Amino acid sequence: MASQAKWVYGFGDGSAEGRADMKNLLGGKGANLAEMSNLGLPVPPGFTITTEVCTYFYDNGKTYPPELKDQVAAAVARIEASVGARFGEPANPLLVSVRSGARASMPGMMDTVLNLGLNDTTAEGLAKRSGDPRFAYDSYRRFIQMYGNVVLGVDHHHFEEILEHAKRDRGIDLDTDMKAEDWQAVIKDYKKMVESELGRPFPQDVQEQLWGAIGAVFGSWMNQRAITYRRLHEIPASWGTAVNVQAMVFGNMGQDCATGVAFTRNPSTGENKFYGEYLVNAQGEDVVAGIRTPQHLTIAGKVANKSDLPAMEEVMPEVFAQLDAVRLKLERHYRDMQDIEFTVQQGKLYMLQTRTGKRTAAAALKIAVDMAEEGLVDRREAIKRIDPASLDQLLHPTLDPKANKTVIARGLPASPGAASGKVVFTADEAEQLSGRGEAVILCRVETSPEDIHGMHAARGILTTRGGMTSHAAVVARGMGRACVAGAGELRIDHKTQTISVRNVTIKAGEMLTIDGSTGEVMLGEVPTVQPELSGDFATLMGWADEIRRMKVRTNAETPLDARTARRFGAEGIGLCRTEHMFFDPERILAVREMILAEDEAGRRAALAKIEPMQRRDFVELFSIMKGLPVTIRLLDPPLHEFLPTSEEDMAEVAKAAGQDVPKVRQRALQLHEANPMLGHRGCRLGVSYPEIYEMQARAIFEAAAEVQKSSGETVTPEVMIPLVGTKRELDILKAVIDRVAGEVQQSSGVKFDYLVGTMIELPRAALRAAEIAESAEFFSFGTNDLTQTTLGISRDDAASFLPEYQRQGIFEQDPFVTLDQEGVGELVRLAAERGRKTRADIKLGICGEHGGDPASVHFCETVGLDYVSCSPYRVPIARLAAAQAAISKERTARD
Ligand code: ADP
Ligand code: MG
Ligand code: MG
Repeated sequence: MASQAKWVYGFGDGSAEGRADMKNLLGGKGANLAEMSNLGLPVPPGFTITTEVCTYFYDNGKTYPPELKDQVAAAVARIEASVGARFGEPANPLLVSVRSGARASMPGMMDTVLNLGLNDTTAEGLAKRSGDPRFAYDSYRRFIQMYGNVVLGVDHHHFEEILEHAKRDRGIDLDTDMKAEDWQAVIKDYKKMVESELGRPFPQDVQEQLWGAIGAVFGSWMNQRAITYRRLHEIPASWGTAVNVQAMVFGNMGQDCATGVAFTRNPSTGENKFYGEYLVNAQGEDVVAGIRTPQHLTIAGKVANKSDLPAMEEVMPEVFAQLDAVRLKLERHYRDMQDIEFTVQQGKLYMLQTRTGKRTAAAALKIAVDMAEEGLVDRREAIKRIDPASLDQLLHPTLDPKANKTVIARGLPASPGAASGKVVFTADEAEQLSGRGEAVILCRVETSPEDIHGMHAARGILTTRGGMTSHAAVVARGMGRACVAGAGELRIDHKTQTISVRNVTIKAGEMLTIDGSTGEVMLGEVPTVQPELSGDFATLMGWADEIRRMKVRTNAETPLDARTARRFGAEGIGLCRTEHMFFDPERILAVREMILAEDEAGRRAALAKIEPMQRRDFVELFSIMKGLPVTIRLLDPPLHEFLPTSEEDMAEVAKAAGQDVPKVRQRALQLHEANPMLGHRGCRLGVSYPEIYEMQARAIFEAAAEVQKSSGETVTPEVMIPLVGTKRELDILKAVIDRVAGEVQQSSGVKFDYLVGTMIELPRAALRAAEIAESAEFFSFGTNDLTQTTLGISRDDAASFLPEYQRQGIFEQDPFVTLDQEGVGELVRLAAERGRKTRADIKLGICGEHGGDPASVHFCETVGLDYVSCSPYRVPIARLAAAQAAISKERTARD
């Protein structure tokens, strides 16, 4: 059995033993080399040693399967026969490249070794046979350099020093100007240096060279770089890497030779235009190594990039035409944009690699839409191609091009989007101010993990130190916050609470604007324009809308957010948090008066001041939402969040309420709670002080009546009671709401529909969903609190241990970002089932942050929720994720 194991797969000459779908066994590079061979493309012959050999190697004390030697020897013989040269033969040597290749492309793996099979004698043979000694010795010195570094571990700089000296001594600038004798001298010095570094000579035996390189590839699977990369990208060590051995073709044999890389479409715009670069008389990595300036493939590319070097289309029109044909063939076959590598040897084209090309979000949309329209893929496939999270890149506001701006400094464009806000210098301040609905720009010398909450709360982040990969830059991009990093001219002075540059000084609390797409820092508030859903983006979203089943609503309470969400296609409001409307400076005084009131009469007096303001809010929201459903959550947070803390504020409240300051202070103290998240909040407030919910219900219904009367649009408010744990709580409060609704219908003479429902955010509510559904007409899963209460983890305190939990694999993802499907999700599923059993048409939705997370949206589809609700900027993401979820459900249903 073991003797029949196949460890080696050949390719080349128009056929192969492997295929593109054998990536697990052959690695990405090997599988695609096989596929290109099968397509009849000109691939130099070679073979792939499978990933199973890598696994065997590590399972068996770093030894190979016994059959491997013979299988490799036979495969080498096949290459020899095909090329008409022999490995190690002095007069006519076969040269090969040894290339690593895991399933997923993986930086950290061994670099490719080219020209393997050269030694002192074969180099001479190659010189004679090719009639081009310069080429032969150039190849040999490249080989010693690569093999010496990659396989033998001799540091780069040793080689570079020798080469630099050689060029300087001869007054030569370009490697291509080195003559055969010059390279021979360099080879001599290289070999001497390697021997003195390692204490043994550079290997002359070609078999030793080959097995040395193969061993180095397998060895590199467990080097530190590769291990770290796998950990960050969750690639299991058990996958292993393959090794590809392939006959060399030479792009460095003269002016009719070249090497290049290309994308079958433009990877930044997505345009269906060939896009690539090449170098004449060069080998392998020269194009990307930056030694010489690469030239453009096409004349259009040359013109667009203002290059004065000739395009391949002009220099080698025939080869270019062949390459263009390969491009079309590959696209038609793979039905996706490809990233390719090629070499031209004496006017003949060879293909060395193809893989799916990386692209920007804008390019991904254009390519998906174009390919669907070209008939290469269907619409479902086009939808599946787009990573919903990547849309974030396209959804940020940009500066109004017509606006005046005063640029005071420039940093790095670290995370796209423009943002204006009040200057704050600490993460805590950022959080406090934004909690009151203010836009802030967090200004720091640098940021660190302790600043995350403030970065999250800020509209934008500005640092004076650090680069494109600094903490600020990386985290901001991840969060979708605008960021300008490393604006070194700016000085932050914590003592005076200022940020300054030359003669400009900005104090904490003053407005600043940053543009994370250009790196500009500007005085004051520069108007921004909202991104539009247009062109390919709109087309693809339209396709997604036709396919998805779940509705997508938004979490919004301000008119601005509600309008933004509408433009992004929101189909209603899933969560309007009324307390955010209380923080307005005009209102907070009345709110404080209400909280600090000693009795119901005092509270009612204060509530009477708030009610007209609340009504105005709802009138505006209902008008913007034009008949779409609006879910309004009644007051939820612990009252102490609204309390005055400064003496000044206390005095102000005391005056407004006609009380003395000590009394106010004492009442504030009384309201303090040890654990507010589990304290006097949510419907518990409504039970203790029904007049609060009564006022809110009246504001909602009067607004509904008003808008319905004036616009003729049907308004159906959905009144939502937070933090319910028992049916009784809901019943008590529902009675208040129903009574108010009846009163308003009577007094206004307008009949309107409304729903009363509850959030499911306590495990008890999920468990008792069957009886709660007797009273609730809808459930909205408040998965932020449900996660906190199910896991017993406070979101605000999780930062101190959650990263470690993720590192140790206790949680795969942050449960506050991606729903914990097994735990919290189980409660959601169960509550949905039990709720439906009682009330078949109960409306089910989700309104936690998870509503905009693609993986969680998938889960919502499997549970069969009616809608997800998320922040306005995530609405398009949720629409796409919901469509993808519907598509994968179709598939499971079919299978
Ligand atoms: P990477 O994964 O880093 O791209 P590759 O194995 O693709 O590494 O090879 C590095 C460079 O060497 C590429 O430019 C590739 O085209 C070139 N190359 C690899 N094998 C050969 C070969 N047999 N003949 C000529 N060039 C080769
Ligand atoms: Mg490559
Ligand atoms: Mg909640």
